[in-house]
Amino acid sequence: MKLIYRILSVTAAAVTAAVMITSNAFAAEHRGDCNNDKAVNSKDLLTLSSFILNEGDMCEGCGDFNGDGVVNVYDVVIYRRYLAHTLSIVPSGTWIGRDFDGTRFFSFKDGYGHYVNAETGDSMGFDFTAEDNELEFTLGTAGTTAAADIIWKNDLFFDFEWRDTGCEHLTFLCEDDIELNEPLTGFYVTGGDYSVRYFDIKGYTGSYRARFDENDKGNYCYYFRGNNIVFIDEKNYAKKAAFTRIDRDHFDLVWENGKTEHFTRREVTVKDGITYINGILIVNKTYALPSNYGPGGLTPETQAAFNEMQAAAASEGLSLKVCSGFRSYDYQATLYNSYVARDGKAKADTFSARPGHSEHQTGLAADINMASDAFLNTPEAAWLAENCWKYGFIIRYPKGKEDKTGYKYEPWHVRYLGKENAKLVYESGLCLEEYLSIASSYS
Ligand SMILES: [Zn+2]
Repeated sequence: MKLIYRILSVTAAAVTAAVMITSNAFAAEHRGDCNNDKAVNSKDLLTLSSFILNEGDMCEGCGDFNGDGVVNVYDVVIYRRYLAHTLSIVPSGTWIGRDFDGTRFFSFKDGYGHYVNAETGDSMGFDFTAEDNELEFTLGTAGTTAAADIIWKNDLFFDFEWRDTGCEHLTFLCEDDIELNEPLTGFYVTGGDYSVRYFDIKGYTGSYRARFDENDKGNYCYYFRGNNIVFIDEKNYAKKAAFTRIDRDHFDLVWENGKTEHFTRREVTVKDGITYINGILIVNKTYALPSNYGPGGLTPETQAAFNEMQAAAASEGLSLKVCSGFRSYDYQATLYNSYVARDGKAKADTFSARPGHSEHQTGLAADINMASDAFLNTPEAAWLAENCWKYGFIIRYPKGKEDKTGYKYEPWHVRYLGKENAKLVYESGLCLEEYLSIASSYS
């Protein structure tokens, strides 16, 4: 009984001592920086505790908070109090809040900072001043002001009590300012060392789910840091991956376990029975057109692009002409059935599309000069392969991609994608199926 009383009274004295120790006093005396890392935080508490348990070293005297000449458990008590209640410091580094105005990041450094609405990707810089645990913000160029009381829980958590509007809980993320690269907004499908996963990314937040594992799903937010991207799950557990942007629609992540995951943006919309992927009308063995669909000829845009390409080739003494452009559903049916009668279905499927599955029905595809292997040995074939992307076309069924496109190499068949998309697909070295991460096979 007597012993308990003694501990209580010492603790009461310790609390008084703790209140008297200001953060400035700590800094001036380096008292509290038990691990000598020039910061006073909960890591020092670990060092102090280890020292008392004879499990580690500590600089002489830096743990003797109550100045009684002994480093012992009473110093730990004072230190806890200090961290929990008497801390009067300005936040620095990057923090995350989730429960006030959506998910947002705050970065603070020396009176300046910025916050990011993680869902929209919008960000705004601010100046701030701190006095008596109250922060006064001046936002952006408009100079709007806001104020919040800051209530420290410990050095990893604090609350902002926003004036009249409510409380926001903030959790420490990292010492540095976060980087604001272009957000990855979009719907992505992955391949690589993991089974297929789907990522729906909005600004700096998102969700994912695995294709085959019901339990493998979750929400996260993320930020960039150097060449890395850091994902933070709902429990604020961080996972880092090396980030490499490949092009507009692709990036790679190498996770810390060494596994690589390839991300392909793939946004599918279906309108009037027609499938568009990232805005590109898709027809192959997987994706068909309705039988009544047909522009009746090359679309005006495709025709104009062909004319431009034809003129450019002519200036180099080469002759390009369309030997087969638009083909209707019914015409394709006649054509395909004649090939099946002649060569059998399996062979016909390698070079002729089933009705509804021909790109020629779109009015966006054309066979140039002659739809035969003899075309390959002409200077026009070489010119087309090298230059058609400049006019918005791609060689739709390239050599070596037969298992992806579902068709044998057709150097004469071009598909209009528009200049931006054609350039991206050309530069990727991928066929369209690979570029969009889609299949081409009859079901
Ligand atoms: Zn063709």
